[in-house]
Amino acid sequence: MIYEWLAPAWQQLLAQRATLHHALLIHGPAGIGKSALAEELARSLLCESPLPDGAACGRCSACGWFAQGNHPDFRRLAPASAEEGGDGEAGANEEPARTAGGTTGSKSGGKSGTKPSRDIRIDQVRALERFTGVGGHRGSTRIVLIDPADAMNAAAANALLKTPEEPGGGTRFVLVTDRPDALPATIRSRCRMLALRLPAPIEAAAWLAADASVAPAQAQAWLAAVGGAPLRARRFADPAQAAIHRLVVETVAGLPETGVVQAADALADVAPAIWVATLQAWVVDLQRVCVGAPPRYFPDRAERLGALARRSGLAALDHLAVRLDRAARAVDHPLNPRLMIEDALLDVRAALTARAA
Ligand SMILES: [Zn+2]
Repeated sequence: MIYEWLAPAWQQLLAQRATLHHALLIHGPAGIGKSALAEELARSLLCESPLPDGAACGRCSACGWFAQGNHPDFRRLAPASAEEGGDGEAGANEEPARTAGGTTGSKSGGKSGTKPSRDIRIDQVRALERFTGVGGHRGSTRIVLIDPADAMNAAAANALLKTPEEPGGGTRFVLVTDRPDALPATIRSRCRMLALRLPAPIEAAAWLAADASVAPAQAQAWLAAVGGAPLRARRFADPAQAAIHRLVVETVAGLPETGVVQAADALADVAPAIWVATLQAWVVDLQRVCVGAPPRYFPDRAERLGALARRSGLAALDHLAVRLDRAARAVDHPLNPRLMIEDALLDVRAALTARAA
């Protein structure tokens, strides 16, 4: 499906259908519907009798195979952990493995055996060799969808660059990522970049209010908390997710008065990706308030942010932001989740008492 705010980009893409670059890199913020658009593109390129505007017909045999997930000329590369994600492919991919379904840290069940990989591995890419190296099932287009493309580890990315292609072959690559900078330049330079953007706040709030059947003010608050991405904000329509969000925000906003141990206890069952992201948003707002700008993520807590900002200082907050960036890169593989929480909270406490020190 194509979300309404992506309709202009989608129409543009369809208009270029005949001359589309053989490798397209779709990028933009998480939670705006990139995965759904990429999938729709693949479907339309494989369709045997596209509609006049170029979209898939939904009735031909190719569309039928695609719907059943067994089109012989289509391959999807995703981390193993995302493939077994619970809530539908598009959703799982749009919220990358870092956050997909990750409401609690205990999900892994932890102790036993093989952890599902969060990487797209080299053997997955190598498995494409036969797919791209021989003629298409119907001598026509073949599509490889790689989502999220930044999940390719270095070896996988290298292998992708070496994937043999039939001369003049009909293989098209569609890559999707929130973090184009995390891809090797050698991959980026081979792709045509398609940038997708956040919808306008008014448009996003109207869509979310209708989709989740909530008041516009509620939709706006949810959107603000995730920086404006509608599909991420929609998660809060799930009461369990909303409760986790409230808990994390309350805990974060209670620092530094709340003790480190108490706060760490509160966050113990929350996936690191979630509390780190909230903490980062909180610090961005502190930085903004520090320089006289309005908060972006927590406009309803402007007063608290102001009080904390006065006790801190831009240098301390900048230092904290750097530390949290580092933590954010480790959320997929925390060596010791409890230690990770306590380290971050100690950093926060240091930054928020910088003036007093
Ligand atoms: Zn069709």
